[in-house]
Amino acid sequence: MASSAKATISVTLLGTGSPIPSPDRAGPATLISAAGEHYLVDAGRGVLLRLAALGLGAPNLTAVVLTHLHSDHITDLNDVITTRWVMMLEPNPLTIVGPIGTKRVVDHLLASLEADIGYRMAHHEDLHAPPGVNVVEVTQGAIDLGGVVALSCAPTDHRPVEPSIGYRFDYKGASVVAAGDTVPCDGLDSLCVGAGGLVHTVIRKDVIANIPMQRIKDTLDYHSSPEEAAATATRGGVETLILTHYVPPFPSGGGDDWRALAAQHFGGVIELGDDLHRVEVTGAAAKGA
Ligand SMILES: [Zn+2]
Repeated sequence: MASSAKATISVTLLGTGSPIPSPDRAGPATLISAAGEHYLVDAGRGVLLRLAALGLGAPNLTAVVLTHLHSDHITDLNDVITTRWVMMLEPNPLTIVGPIGTKRVVDHLLASLEADIGYRMAHHEDLHAPPGVNVVEVTQGAIDLGGVVALSCAPTDHRPVEPSIGYRFDYKGASVVAAGDTVPCDGLDSLCVGAGGLVHTVIRKDVIANIPMQRIKDTLDYHSSPEEAAATATRGGVETLILTHYVPPFPSGGGDDWRALAAQHFGGVIELGDDLHRVEVTGAAAKGA
C-alpha cells in the first residue's frame, strides 16, 4: 500500500437475514477486516458458508465479537469453534468477545460437543487437546486483544435482552461501529461520534406494526427502524450507514424503499444489499463495492 493511501476498514455483510429462515439470506453476521485482521461480529446461520465465499474460514478469524446472546446471532458459533479446531494443525485458541454471560454459553456449547470432541481426539493422533477458546467478557471501554485494530465497546439497549453490546473498530483514522440489535441509546451514540461507518440491524416497523400476529409485533420495542438507525448516524456525524438484518427481507436488488426511509433522517451514504455486500470505509470517505 502506498504511504499516501488512506487506511481502510472493509465491512462485509455475511448474513443479512433474521431468525426467519431464508434461502437467500444467512443469519446475522458481519465481517470487519483491516490490516489482515478479521473480526466476525456475530455468528448467525450459515456464517462459514459465507466466509468460504470470501476465501476465508474459521482459522482466519482474529476474534469473534458477539453483540448479544440471542440465538439467531450465535447459532453457528459451535461451527466456528469446531471447524477452526479441526482445520488447524497447531493449537490456536479462538478469541470470543461478548457480553457477560458469553463464557457460560461457550461452556455449554463445548459441553454439548463433548461426544464429538472425544471421537476426534480418539481418531486423530495429532489432536491432543479439545478446542481452545479464550472468552473475553466486556461491558464498556477499550478492549485489548493485542492487534493493530483498536476495539472499544459500550452497552446498547435491546432489553429485555441484557446485556447487549455495541463495538467500535478503529484503524489509523478509519472507524466502524457495529451496533447489533438495539433501540437508539446513549451507549451507541457515544460509540458513533465521528465514526466513518455504522453497521446497524434494522426492522421495518411500519410493515411489522400491521402484521396481525402479536409474536411478530413483540419485536417492535427492542429493534431500530431504518429511520431510527439513520437518526443515530446523524447524531454521531457518521459518514456511511450500513443497514442489515432485514425484517421482512426484500428481494435481491431491492431495498430502495428502505433506503428512502433512512434518507429522510440521514444525508450521508446509505448501504444495503444482499449477503456478501461489501463496503470500504476509509479515514475520510466510504465507497460501496
Ligand atoms: Zn436480538
